[in-house]
Amino acid sequence: MNRKLNKATLCVQAGWQPENGGPRQLPIIQSTTFNYANSEEMAMLFDLKKEGYFYTRLQNPTNDQVAAKICALEGGVGAMLTSSGQAANFYAVFNICGAGDHFISCNDIYGGTFNLFGVTMKKLGIECTFVSPDATDEEIEAQFRPNTKLVFGETISNPGCKVFDIERFARLAHKHGVPLIVDNTFATPVNCNPFDWGCDIVTHSTTKYMDGHGSQVGGCIVDSGNFDWDANADKFPGLTTPDESYHGLTYTKTFGKMAYTTKLVAQLMRDLGSIPAPQNSFLLNLGLETLHLRMAQHCRNAQRVAEYLESDPRVAWVNYPGLPSSKSYELAQKYLPNGSCGVLAFGLKGDRDRAIRFMDALRLIRIATHVADARSCVLHPASHTHRQLSDEQLAEAGIAPDLIRLSCGIEDADDLIADIQQALDKG
Ligand SMILES: *Cc1c(COP(=O)(O)O)cnc(C)c1O
Repeated sequence: MNRKLNKATLCVQAGWQPENGGPRQLPIIQSTTFNYANSEEMAMLFDLKKEGYFYTRLQNPTNDQVAAKICALEGGVGAMLTSSGQAANFYAVFNICGAGDHFISCNDIYGGTFNLFGVTMKKLGIECTFVSPDATDEEIEAQFRPNTKLVFGETISNPGCKVFDIERFARLAHKHGVPLIVDNTFATPVNCNPFDWGCDIVTHSTTKYMDGHGSQVGGCIVDSGNFDWDANADKFPGLTTPDESYHGLTYTKTFGKMAYTTKLVAQLMRDLGSIPAPQNSFLLNLGLETLHLRMAQHCRNAQRVAEYLESDPRVAWVNYPGLPSSKSYELAQKYLPNGSCGVLAFGLKGDRDRAIRFMDALRLIRIATHVADARSCVLHPASHTHRQLSDEQLAEAGIAPDLIRLSCGIEDADDLIADIQQALDKG
C-alpha cells in the first residue's frame, strides 16, 4: 500500500504487524534476554555484523513496536521510548550537548523541564539560557553563542497553554546551524506535527494524552532525519567523529539519517538505561489506539468549559488557545487547526486562597499532579508543581500566582461545567 495513511489509521494500526498465525494484539515480551544457538551468533550481534535483540536495556521488541507507531504518527525516521518524559527531554538534549556546551530554551515550559535545564544540567556543565516566546528575533539571536547546540520549546506550554511559534524558532535555530527540539506532549501528533514546520526532533511525555488513562509513566524521542549534522560537523562531534565506546564508528557516516536515533540507543540508553518496562509500553499502545478519538473529545470539552469560564463574572481571566481572546489564538489557527488540547489556564477574582478554596470544593474534577488524562483534573502550579520556584522565577516562567491549570477529560461537558459552577457558588 503506497497511499499515505491518515492519523486515525496510524493510531490503530501502525507499529506491530502480525505474521501469519501470530497474535493480533502486540505481544508483551517481558524478557530481559534473548536466546541464541551458539556463541558465534551472539558475537556477531556484539560486533554489529548482525541485527537482533540480546538485552532489553538496549532494545526490546514490544518497546520497539510502540516506538515505531509514534514514529509513524510524527512522520519521523527513528524513535526511542524512555521510562519517562523527563528522561526523553534529558536524552534529547544530552545526545548533542556535553560539558561546556550551551542551549536556548523557551522559558514557559513544564516545571520539571525548567528544573532539569536550569539546575541539573548546569551541574553537568551544560548551560541553558531561557528566552521569552514573545521576544523579538533580534533578542533571541543575541542569545546564540559559538557553543550553542540547540533550541527547545513546547508546542503548547504546560501550564500556561501558550502556543509556540515553531516555524519562527526553527528558522532562527537553523540560521545558527543548530536543530530545534519541540516537546509535543500537549498537542500530540494528532493535532500537530512539528516536523511539518521545520522542527528537527520531537519529544513526548507519553504519560499524558498518548497513554490517556494514567496507567504508566513514559517518554519518547522522534527524529525527523532532516537536520544535516555533517554540515555543522564541528558543533556535533558526538555524531560526526568516531565513538570509541562503539567500535570507533562515526554515527553520521555509518547510519545516515538514523545517526541521532542510533546514538540515543547505542550510547545513551546503553550507558544510562532509562528504559520502559515492556508491560508499560503495551499499556501505552492501548492508549494510542484511541488517541484520535480522545483528543477530539478533550478539545470539545475544553472549548465548552473555556467559553463558560470566560462568561462567568467571578473568573478574572482564561487562556485557552481556542478562544479568540487568547494571545495564542492566531498561532493556534496556524499550528493547531483541528484543536489544541484539553488543558486550559484561568484565574479567579479575589486573593490567592480563592484558588485553593475553589479547587477543594470541586467534586468530579479532582486535584491531581497530572494532566492530559481521561479524567478531568485540576492543579494550582504556584502551590504544587512549581512550588520550589520563587515569585521571580514564577514570573520568569510566565506563571501567574493565581493560575489554575484545568485539564478537561473526556467526560460530559455539561457535568464538568456544573461541577465548576457549584464550586464557584461556594465562594
Ligand atoms: C509531564 C510532562 C513532562 C515530563 O514527563 P514525565 O512523563 O512526567 O516524566 C515533560 N514535558 C511536558 C510538556 C509534560 O507535560
